[in-house]
Amino acid sequence: MNSRRNISIACIVLLHALTACGDRGPAEYQLSGPTMGTRFNVTVVVDGDVDLESLRNKIQATLDDADRQMSTYRDDSELAGFNRSMSTAWVTVSNELCEAVRLALELGKMTSGAFDVTVGPLVDLWGFGPDGSVSTPPADDDIELARKNTGLEFLQADCVNTAIRKTKPGIRIDLSGYGKGRAADDIGILLSEHGIVNFLVEIGGDLRAQGQNVKGQPWRIAIEKPDSHGRTVERIIRVDNTAVATSGDYRNFIEYDGQRYSHTIDPRTGRPVTHNLASVTVVFNNGPFADAYATALMVLGPDAGMALAERLHIAAYFLVRDGDSLADRMTPAFTMLINP
Ligand code: FAD
Repeated sequence: MNSRRNISIACIVLLHALTACGDRGPAEYQLSGPTMGTRFNVTVVVDGDVDLESLRNKIQATLDDADRQMSTYRDDSELAGFNRSMSTAWVTVSNELCEAVRLALELGKMTSGAFDVTVGPLVDLWGFGPDGSVSTPPADDDIELARKNTGLEFLQADCVNTAIRKTKPGIRIDLSGYGKGRAADDIGILLSEHGIVNFLVEIGGDLRAQGQNVKGQPWRIAIEKPDSHGRTVERIIRVDNTAVATSGDYRNFIEYDGQRYSHTIDPRTGRPVTHNLASVTVVFNNGPFADAYATALMVLGPDAGMALAERLHIAAYFLVRDGDSLADRMTPAFTMLINP
């Protein structure tokens, strides 16, 4: 039996024990499992009986559906099939994938192209996609070639007819900058449908918070220091009924010749961003928007990112490298969040 199966059985055994404790007032339970190359961790506060094993299985099934729709890491996903095809005809897809592409196009417009889901060929070329990492930066000619197969103008979504199409055969969509935020929202909806109103959903660092913890207080979210050598807390924020997403250059990167190349690609250059913004955290009441905005602000950097965030009234928290130290900057909407 592989280790992952052992983990899920361990969760179920633990959960069976917890299901019986429903008569002691509000209690906090943890549900977790594998998803999207990372893990989900769901904390629910429940007063009364709840079938935790069934709830965990429904969470897992919802995330497996999202994976089947939006993953570029499995050949049998809807998105992988669309990316593989060289056809420029309309392709009928699930409503969920169509909506994901439609919203991604909208977010591309709202961020002046900084959030660009057609960067798939560049993400793969720089080694941040499913084909695995590279040890040296790609050649300039290869970057220019890959850039020719990007561009939001070559992607269309018609969700009245649940169809998407590319008008350039080589277009490949990458929803990794947005998919976890959408999945966290999906789990929030699932929990609410089961009458659970106090929960914290975390999927690979993207969060959906609603209600309060078991002590009746707002959920406390730690924003970590952008440190590739460890996990330390930079700031704690309290949130309710919102999503939180962070993008940064300190987890997923290669270093070559003293230069760090992170997985956030600037569509204008076809290269990883080179500014000194180490991370940006966005608090927004919609998961896909929070996730995409964090990626877009990371593309734009500390100055243009701050300007966009202020223009769109986004609560954003920037950590900017200044030599060996870090300076933090926040939008007025973020300041209001921490000093209500
Ligand atoms: P974020 O900042 O949220 O996103 C950065 C990612 O967005 C980059 O890695 C790149 O893919 C993309 N991107 C880069 N630049 C731009 C840009 N300008 N505009 C738009 N997007 C951009 N990872 C695995 O290792 N194994 C898996 O099996 C796996 N399955 C997945 C399935 C799904 C459905 C999804 C959505 C993702 C999956 N991933 C998988 C990827 C992983 O979960 C994360 O999404 C990835 O590491 C990026 O998340 P992040 O929060 O680290 O960075």
